[in-house]
Amino acid sequence: MLDCAIVGGGPAGLTAGLYTTRGGLGNVIMYEKGLPGGQITQSSEIENYPGVTGEITGMDLMQPWPEQCMKFGLKHEMVEVLQVSKDGDVFKIKRGDGKVDEARSVIVCTGSVPKRAGFKGEDEFFGRGVSTCATCDGFFYKDKEVAVIGGGDTALEESLYLAKICSKVYLIHRRDKYRAAPNTIKRVENTPNIERIYNSIPDEVYGDNMGVNGIKIRNRETGEITDIKVPGVFVFVGNNVNNEVLKQDDGTFLCELNEQGQVKVNLRMETSLEGLFAAGDIREDAPKQVVCAAGDGAAAALSAISYVDEKFQD
Ligand code: FAD
Ligand code: NAP
Repeated sequence: MLDCAIVGGGPAGLTAGLYTTRGGLGNVIMYEKGLPGGQITQSSEIENYPGVTGEITGMDLMQPWPEQCMKFGLKHEMVEVLQVSKDGDVFKIKRGDGKVDEARSVIVCTGSVPKRAGFKGEDEFFGRGVSTCATCDGFFYKDKEVAVIGGGDTALEESLYLAKICSKVYLIHRRDKYRAAPNTIKRVENTPNIERIYNSIPDEVYGDNMGVNGIKIRNRETGEITDIKVPGVFVFVGNNVNNEVLKQDDGTFLCELNEQGQVKVNLRMETSLEGLFAAGDIREDAPKQVVCAAGDGAAAALSAISYVDEKFQD
């Protein structure tokens, strides 16, 4: 029986792993379906993690985290968790490889995934010219023109990154105001090869067998269609939380969620179900920052330690 099962190995899960093991829980597994690190490993630049100065990628930031946790005994299983359920005081962890593990406590840290914007051709050309990762795919468009969809921090930061590789970035936003940090907006405004296009939404991405040839955008005020000939379109329009692991066979969820599907927690990261904790982007009102996800992970771990100690003391 595990003392704690941690689902997800991003900043929240890794920090929960560090604190549970270092705090004395003897048998803890962190389930991460990919490589540990989480979504920040897709970021080309992070400059707001306290104490980390200079230009650093998300991958560089996260690289030492797993080693630090493993040192204190955290085990990593590279497997997808399909479902977490509870039978009496015991949680059941249904794994993608067919096995079922049992745990006294669970910390859910499954984070979020990029949303699709929903325009014609987006799915058809996904991975063939349409991308949600500038770090992964930006280099394919070296010295070429690309389009970016979105007006939040991610769209603006990734436009700045792409502007260093590509000859030009068309930044297409559906409103006339960005939803991003003032400093980032200023940097975008001061970058000559970013053309800012406001009040416009993608109508269609078109292309052929070889990939994307362009994007047609529609001005929301005038209805005018503009055809922008680019081989690459990057979509940064927000995220959906990964709450599927909490879904039960009868369609209900293991704990309370809000209207956006985010897990409701208190300041101890306790959910509405005893022994179940949530941390990071999955939880309600998450500031969606690495430092906050890590803080949540630590808080959830400390709560899980108290819960296991009190509930299961021999
Ligand atoms: P995630 O990082 O999403 O990690 C969740 C992990 O769980 C993933 O590794 C996933 O593979 C795994 N997982 C999901 N479901 C399962 C399952 N069923 N079984 C097993 N594993 C599963 N924040 C900042 O502070 N500064 C920045 O500059 C910044 N830039 C960003 C740039 C980009 C492009 C993006 C996308 C985000 C950025 N963020 C930034 C936000 C930051 O990345 C997130 O807030 C943070 O990663 C959330 O951490 P998390 O651990 O909650 O979730
Ligand atoms: P976000 O803040 O939700 O912004 C999404 C953007 O996409 C918004 O501008 C939105 O327009 C637009 N959009 C949404 N759906 C669309 C659609 N169907 N078609 C066209 N445009 C659409 O998402 P994000 O930028 O990924 O950021 C997510 C969170 O991570 C935020 O909390 C952000 O602060 C954080 N983050 C922080 C940093 C940092 O601190 N450096 C970096 C990256 C991300 P509207 O504005 O009109 O809604």
